[in-house]
Amino acid sequence: MTATAMKHDAAGSASQEAMLPIIDHWIDGAATPGSSDRFGLVYNPALGTPAARVRFASAADVDRAVEAAARAAVAWGRAGLGKRATVLFKFRELVERHADELTRCIVREHGKVLADARGEVQRGLEVVEFACGIPHLSKGEFSENVSTNVDSYSIRQPLGVVAGITPFNFPVMVPMWMYPVAIAAGNSFILKPSEKDPSASMMMAELWREAGLPAGVFSVVNGDQAAVERILEHPGIAAVSFVGSTPIACRIYETATGHGKRVQALGGAKNHMIVLPDADMELAADSAVNAAFGSAGERCMAISVTVAVGDAAERLVPLVAQRMRAIRVGDGLDPKNDMGPLVTKQHLERVRAYVDEGVAAGASLVADGRATVNDERGFYLGPCLFDHVKPDMTIYRDEIFGPVLSVVRASSYEEAIGLVNSNPYANGVAIFTNDGGAARRFQNEVQVGMVGINVPIPVPMAYYSFGGWKASLFGDAHVHGMEGVKFYTRGKVVTARWPDPSLRGKNLGFPT
Ligand code: NAD
Repeated sequence: MTATAMKHDAAGSASQEAMLPIIDHWIDGAATPGSSDRFGLVYNPALGTPAARVRFASAADVDRAVEAAARAAVAWGRAGLGKRATVLFKFRELVERHADELTRCIVREHGKVLADARGEVQRGLEVVEFACGIPHLSKGEFSENVSTNVDSYSIRQPLGVVAGITPFNFPVMVPMWMYPVAIAAGNSFILKPSEKDPSASMMMAELWREAGLPAGVFSVVNGDQAAVERILEHPGIAAVSFVGSTPIACRIYETATGHGKRVQALGGAKNHMIVLPDADMELAADSAVNAAFGSAGERCMAISVTVAVGDAAERLVPLVAQRMRAIRVGDGLDPKNDMGPLVTKQHLERVRAYVDEGVAAGASLVADGRATVNDERGFYLGPCLFDHVKPDMTIYRDEIFGPVLSVVRASSYEEAIGLVNSNPYANGVAIFTNDGGAARRFQNEVQVGMVGINVPIPVPMAYYSFGGWKASLFGDAHVHGMEGVKFYTRGKVVTARWPDPSLRGKNLGFPT
């Protein structure tokens, strides 16, 4: 292309971009453009074309959101528990009613298939259901007469303004791990969703308004690093929940705690599935395929490594390969497809490069997804299966976050669990076996936050807490469940005396 043609081409695509719909912020109960003129492009990954422009908030936009959130937090934090629960029940009903729209919105911007996106909405709703129980969840303790006429009781109070920063891979569910609990607990919540698929968060803001949530209690600031930096240092924000990759999680934790905030920062993963020789191999093969290739492997709980013990690999690998041939890859909006595209072109190229590297390192590529998709437009990669992967290979060590499953062969249970426990990540893990004793030993010995026994993706229910260990979580509190309630509240213990007038008198000793 000549320089002039290139100039025309660039000018053409700039003017096309200017025609795209714009995704704003949601501050003080309404959509607002804010003060910045920086934008990002939101793609439809199934078509490979930009679908919208999203505004990138400035520090001043974040400041405005915090001001509105702080104003709203005063009255919301004092609102009766029944009133808060009523808003949550209404929100739950509205999300359910709009579940199809939300599902399609996820598919258009993320790329996952319809059934997967619908499941994501459902798992998010479960957290709202949990949070509806806030009157029960926030009960304190009471001890009568800890000393004569003295009672002691504990109460939990909201923190004020809290923020969430979330990844692209679950644009509905991951933010919902946070804000239903934070809001139920009486806080105002500011969400900075992924810039790759921000629309669902704006839909949620509308639904909160319709549910009767006061303006300012839920806000969305769209953007990139600039918005995040301001959130991390803003003195008006008491706590930050983060979910994303490990290097960013680590930095978020260090910076935000350095600014005196409470932080839970969930990071990346490399989830192993150990298959013992006595396992039901058909079940193990189904599970490996579903857990490795669902959502094109873009799940923090995806299985990316299968550790086959003893002769398990000889039976398992052909069964997995056979099932992979039946996976239909294509536009997630077509219900016939099982697996959609990757989220961006850059991410597709990164994952393909890992496949190339695996081949170069000498792993055997049993199924090569680089050649199995005919659609030239979208960001597609078919499912890939490597066998004979060694622990020193990059495809084993790194989080690939794509449809690539590695099989590592181990000679014993001890070798298999040694691999898991020496891995820096520790989000999810699974064991497949028919031996209850082995499974019980495994649940005790494995150093990972979420453990599946013949269950490949052991995502806890909303009334338990979700989170990994080691490089998969920085901070002490997991999300949702009681740990979520505790994270978004502060405890206080009150000691009260309503004296009997007959018991007055001097006593300078330490109260006992
Ligand atoms: P990411 O770390 O790139 O981005 C997450 C968030 O951080 C986004 O909102 C993004 O805008 C922001 N961000 C990105 N770079 C930043 C920077 N330099 N400074 C400040 N903010 C920045 O993650 P992603 O690609 O959106 O999501 C995929 C990752 O998330 C994977 O590593 C996956 O394992 C992880 N994840 C973990 C869990 C979990 O529960 N542990 C759940 C979902 C996803």
